[in-house]
Amino acid sequence: MENFDNEMRLTFQAKSCNEALARMTVAAFLTPLNPTLEELADTKTAVSEAVTNAIIHGYGEEGGTVELWCARKEKEVCFHVKDTGYGIADIKTAMEPMYTTKPEMERSGMGFAFMEAFMDDLEVFSEVGQGTVVKMQKKIGAGSWIEAC
Ligand code: ATP
Ligand code: MG
Repeated sequence: MENFDNEMRLTFQAKSCNEALARMTVAAFLTPLNPTLEELADTKTAVSEAVTNAIIHGYGEEGGTVELWCARKEKEVCFHVKDTGYGIADIKTAMEPMYTTKPEMERSGMGFAFMEAFMDDLEVFSEVGQGTVVKMQKKIGAGSWIEAC
């Protein structure tokens, strides 16, 4: 996707209280597209899973920064969630349903599975010690969008 109709970037500390901020930001960004309630809920959930992962798995006690980038071209929306934390050694395994490295935190290992189910396209880039970028895309089908935005 290039030559976006709209684009925004939000940077925040890797703290759980910012999960709600990310969800609200996604909702606000989608509003001009007039999404269905299902499209809205699915997209918010998918992005929020990636943001939660960046916060919980990306960093330890020392914390860090998470970046959420949102872009839109016509009815196609694109989100990147980036951390510069620990990274993922084996992306394929990490993306398997029910795989988690934090079972003690009552994590179910379903985050990536939800992202895959709720979005049209999902890509994960990661390097140990460098961090992780999760890229996802979805076409918002119903309703008409506000041309001016
Ligand atoms: P759930 O999302 O169901 O609460 P989970 O977060 O463990 O559980 P996934 O979101 O599917 O499950 O992630 C699977 C695993 O991938 C995690 O347990 C973690 O080891 C790794 N992982 C995911 N995102 C990151 C990240 N940003 N940085 C480092 N590791 C990550
Ligand atoms: Mg998760």
